[in-house]
This record gives sequence, C-alpha cells and structure tokens, in this order.
Amino acid sequence: MTRIVADTTRCVGAGQCVLTDPATFAQDSTQGTVVLLRDDLSDEALATARQALYLCPSRALSLTG
Ligand code: SF4
Repeated sequence: MTRIVADTTRCVGAGQCVLTDPATFAQDSTQGTVVLLRDDLSDEALATARQALYLCPSRALSLTG
C-alpha cells in the first residue's frame, strides 16, 4: 500500500495540505507544521492526497511504496 511521508523540516506551515485533505493532514498547534493523521492510503484517499502533494509549496510531502 502507498504511504505518505512528511518532511517537517521542509514544511513552511502554509496549510494547503490541510485545506485540501483534512482527513489525512493536520497542522501542529504550536509550530504550524504538518501532522499526518494517516499514512496508509487507500486508492480513493490517494487521489485526494496527491492533490495536496501537488499544492504543497515546499515539496514537504512525498509518496513511497
Ligand atoms: S502544504 Fe506543505 S508546507 Fe503547507 S503545511 Fe502542508 S506540508 Fe507544510
């Protein structure tokens, strides 16, 4: 199954991922950096997550597997 990976050292807290896919992404309440709510993605969830990856301005998100 495809997994999503978040590099919090690259994340600039822009929040595009949360706006696009709130079922998969959240933001840390103090740092504002991305928090993964799930990393194992079904095919359906993957389609939405790909949108978030595309929109992330810092390229902090990637897929593996
Ligand atoms: S869109 Fe990218 S930079 Fe913005 S919070 Fe999500 S992972 Fe971080």
